[in-house]
Order: sequence, then structure tokens, then C-alpha cells
Amino acid sequence: MPLPPELGKVIDDAVTADAHDLITLSANLHANPELRFEEVKAAAWICELVASRNIAVEKGLGGMPTALRARAGTPGGPRVAILAEYDALPEIGHACGHNLIAAGAVGAFLAAARVVAQTGGEVVLLGTPAEEGGGGKIKLIEAGAFDGLDAAMMFHPLDRDLLAHAALASLWLMFEFHGVPSHAAAAPHIGASALTACMDTFRLVDGQRVHFQDGVRVHGFITNGGQAVNIIPERAACELSVRARDVQELARVKAIVERCARGAAMASGVELKMTARPGYKDMRNNLTMARVFGAHLAAGGRTAKETDPHTGAGSTDMGDVSHVVPSIHPYLAIVGEGQAMCHEHRFAAAAASDEGTKTALAAAKAMARTAIELLGSPALREAIRAEWSSR
Ligand SMILES: [Zn+2]
Repeated sequence: MPLPPELGKVIDDAVTADAHDLITLSANLHANPELRFEEVKAAAWICELVASRNIAVEKGLGGMPTALRARAGTPGGPRVAILAEYDALPEIGHACGHNLIAAGAVGAFLAAARVVAQTGGEVVLLGTPAEEGGGGKIKLIEAGAFDGLDAAMMFHPLDRDLLAHAALASLWLMFEFHGVPSHAAAAPHIGASALTACMDTFRLVDGQRVHFQDGVRVHGFITNGGQAVNIIPERAACELSVRARDVQELARVKAIVERCARGAAMASGVELKMTARPGYKDMRNNLTMARVFGAHLAAGGRTAKETDPHTGAGSTDMGDVSHVVPSIHPYLAIVGEGQAMCHEHRFAAAAASDEGTKTALAAAKAMARTAIELLGSPALREAIRAEWSSR
């Protein structure tokens, strides 16, 4: 059963009525950027706004003081979660627009909370810290915060509207090389250069790129290049980020990159210590749900493409969520196409613009409508679950 038009109107009006508070929230977050796990003010402001509507908020989840959860409706039936991110980046601030993600999610939750009694079920606002490298959602999955959910959703700012764009599976590799120091001019023949092994690792990886599947990314930098210009480097180290379209290809490429590091160490006769840090899983977009979101977005006057092969993909811990519960992570434009990309100064400016807040409000309406339609339609939940199970 599609969403009754009168419910859609109540939702839209609720977001419009909350617009002033949501825009203030977004502006406060943007003016006070906080790094992963340190989103103290952001979490407090979100709690304050939700609590002002007489809805209780739990603060601190999964061992993270800045995670939060609020619920509306009746437990025991269908449940849908709307996710807020609110961490910023070092130096460049809210250049990923997570302030708008927070405002959109809170707006969607408050609007859905007003009508959830009419469909039954429960709508949950989850505040998920540390998307930028901390994997807050993974900690919340481990803490059981996603158990018993029928669906999870969030939106992310971009330079175009895309309903179901890819996000890459990722991990980090750290290589430390230990060689033999010697005088670089007087006795280079008795040394063994850790730096040569480090640089050879990059060269060998470049040679293997021909064997990578489409979408693979391997990029890195040297974190330790030696000790002094006149010493054959005893220690050198590098860090590489490896990404792929799925976890199988990620594991395959990881093994190749590690082989390159071992080969480089062997060639230089130095020792190698390898450390891997897990990143995020690929995003399994639920197309059934993404299309419902797209229809509600269109009702508000925005038509979005499903995906765009010419737009690059990053990685997000929403990918991990999509592996445990049917999920969507649509992208919505806050700036003209090609005018700015996430993690740029221009994008940080766009995250504070009128265009940005307009997009957050549009996202709030479309997410609340999608959540309520889903709670009111067993057939839609069934179709979403069937698509998810078949992946
Ligand atoms: Zn982001």
C-alpha cells in the first residue's frame, strides 16, 4: 500500500514547521566541527532538540559517549532506523557535510514520530559517531543496536542526486621496514636500506594494477622515510589504503599488496612488519527501498538518477550496516554538479549554504515518508527483505 497522500502532507508540513530548529542545528554543528568520537557538543544539541519534543533520548551506546538513540511509536512490531552522522574532518571542518546529515535525520525522525501512531511500528533515530575513520556504526552493530530492524537509512550530501551509488569496501595496511644503518657516503656497502624497500613496495604495487578488477583503489604515503641524509635508512614505513567493490576482491588485492611488500623487503635484505586495520564493507544498496525514497523525493520536486558510473566512490561504515539490515544511503546535491566534491574547502562552504539546508529538509521529508510507508506496508517490507536476502 503506498503512503496515503494526507500522511505525506502531514510529514512535509512537520519538517517545514521544524525547519528553523533544524537549520540552527546544522549551523551550530558546522560552526563547531568536532572530530571522530569527540562529537560532544553535536550530540548534546541533537539530544536537546529531540528532548524538546518530549521524546526521551538515550546517550552513550556501544561504548561511545557521543552515540545516541531515540524511539517513537510502539515496540514489538516493524522497526526502521534513521541514521545521523555528525563528525567533522581535521583542519577542513564539515567538508563532508555531516552537519546536514544530522539535520536531515533529526528532521525525518521528528516528522515520522508525529504520524507513527497511525501506521504502528517504531521509528528509531540512531546517532552514529566517527564515520570518518572511526567506524562508529561497526561498534553499534557489535552492540546490537541494529538487531530487529527492518530497514536503515540516511542521506549524504554530494554534487548530484543519486539514489543507490556504490561505496567501496576498504582496509588499511601499515608496512614497517627495518634495515641496517651505515654511513651513506663512507660505507654504503655495509648498509641495507629500509627506504629502498618502502619505495619498491609502491613500484611493485603499481606493476600489479593491471591485475586489479575495475573499481579497485590502492593509494598511500610514506610515513617514515629515514633518519638522516647521511645514514642509510635503518627504518622506513608506509601506509596504504586498499579499496574494492566487494570484500572478496578486497581480500585478493590485500594479499597482492602484502606480497609486493614482502618482495620489496626480500630484494633489499631488510625485515618487514605488516599490520592490517579493517576498514568498511561495500555498500549493498537496497534498490526496492531506494526507489521508494526516490518516488518521495520526486514528490518534493527532485528527480534523482539511481547511480552514475562517472562519479567516484568512497567508503562508509553504512556499508557495514547494509550487510546486517536492508539499507539505503542516497546522495543529494548541495552544490552544482562538478562544482565541489567531499573533503574540499568548497564543499565545507556548501555544507553551510542555503542550498545545503534546503537539501537536508528535502532529505528529511523523503526519509520520513519512506520510513512511514515501510512501517505501514507489510508487502513493501517483504519486498525489501526479499531483495536483501537474495544478495
Ligand atoms: Zn561523509
